[in-house]
Amino acid sequence: MSGLYIAGAGASGMMAAIAAARAGAHPVLIAGRTAPGKKILATGNGRCNFTNLRMKKECYHSAWPDGPSRVIRSFGSRETIRFFKELGVLSCDRDGYVYPRSQQAASVRDALVGEIRRQKIRVIEEDPLGNITVSENGGFILQLLSGKTMQADRLIMCTGGLAAPSTGSDGTGLALIKKLGIRIIPMVPALTGLLSDDPCCSVWHGVRTHGRVTVCDRNGKAHSDTGEIQLMKNGISGIPVFQVSRHTAYVLKEKEKSEAVIDFMPEDDTDLRGLLARKDLTVGEVLKGAFPGKLADVFLKRLGERPEICAGDADRKKLLGIIHSFRLGIKDVRGFEEAQVTAGGVDLRSVDLNSMESRVIPGLYFAGEILDADGLCGGYNLQWAFATGWLAGTAAAPDMQ
Ligand SMILES: Cc1cc2nc3c(=O)[nH]c(=O)nc-3n(C[C@H](O)[C@H](O)[C@H](O)COP(=O)(O)OP(=O)(O)OC[C@H]3O[C@@H](n4cnc5c(N)ncnc54)[C@H](O)[C@@H]3O)c2cc1C
Repeated sequence: MSGLYIAGAGASGMMAAIAAARAGAHPVLIAGRTAPGKKILATGNGRCNFTNLRMKKECYHSAWPDGPSRVIRSFGSRETIRFFKELGVLSCDRDGYVYPRSQQAASVRDALVGEIRRQKIRVIEEDPLGNITVSENGGFILQLLSGKTMQADRLIMCTGGLAAPSTGSDGTGLALIKKLGIRIIPMVPALTGLLSDDPCCSVWHGVRTHGRVTVCDRNGKAHSDTGEIQLMKNGISGIPVFQVSRHTAYVLKEKEKSEAVIDFMPEDDTDLRGLLARKDLTVGEVLKGAFPGKLADVFLKRLGERPEICAGDADRKKLLGIIHSFRLGIKDVRGFEEAQVTAGGVDLRSVDLNSMESRVIPGLYFAGEILDADGLCGGYNLQWAFATGWLAGTAAAPDMQ
């Protein structure tokens, strides 16, 4: 049987199948090992932050920095919200972060699965794609792991990246396209925590505090984010850490060590400075009045002073330096198992971003996290999956009856 085949039934694969079916094609969806949309259920802490009203070029990273925003201009948050509303999913937004009104990721997953059923899309379950051969006369011979083969005129690869492999994105799809000679930008875990063996970690373990994290990328450019930082026994985590982690991951691909600089009081510090000038308070009292106790202990240790000395006698310049520019050696990032997304993937410069078709192998399309685009935490990665899935499915559909 020839026609249009889509490998991977995550957010991008299901969207591509629906778009193709609505455009008149009869696509076949090869779902792989996991149930369709398994990863969607884990998103947004089970609430699925599926897009964001604030879409700027800076919300995405890629070796081709202009690439992702070109795609999002064609299919942005308005289109995604409208698409799900048509399927019966109402949405709500908090500060631009868009969730299903139900606050349940299952609403989004079930809407996609329901539409796949309504469109009578054939789904091959629990039999992943195992090999792709490009036919001499165009098209592809696809072999499933069971050994079954089929002829495909067009193929959309939606098998994801390397993040969260327990949800199905185990890299097998990437290995198949690498064999075809498709150029892959090196991949690292992104939206993940940073690991440190600094002794301060055993002291501050369990503290959550407001702060700004800054790391440098491979070119020495600084990247910062502010919010709640989780201080852990082996490093740091939380949204601001996630947002900058991809830069550290790329640095650590080339070097053994990296560094994060934390500002533990990014807001106005006039009051703190005032208290630190006082002779009637100890430095321990001032620090413990402004910061969680374990963090204050870490500051005192770095300062090398006893907590009972007068605040006014402490080396204030040094102390403020520690509070505002706390340098933490980073030895690694948390691996793909714990990362939310993959940085790197199929080079966008080798793909026509209007159709998501490969410029190297005609008839081969890509959508979702398999591509070299990683968004910030905040609905940008699902938006990318839906946008690229829609474009690829629509473009691959003509004449695929
Ligand atoms: C814990 C967590 C929370 C997240 N939260 C958010 C969030 O709130 N908002 C947001 O925007 N993003 C979030 N993300 C990221 C987002 O979920 C992903 O970027 C997005 O789901 C990727 O979709 P995809 O279709 O490209 O790939 P995936 O969802 O990874 O799907 C790939 C599919 O391909 C299948 N497959 C793999 N190999 C084969 C093969 N050989 N043959 C056939 N099928 C195969 C897999 O079984 C899988 O079903 C989160 C991710 C994680 C892990």
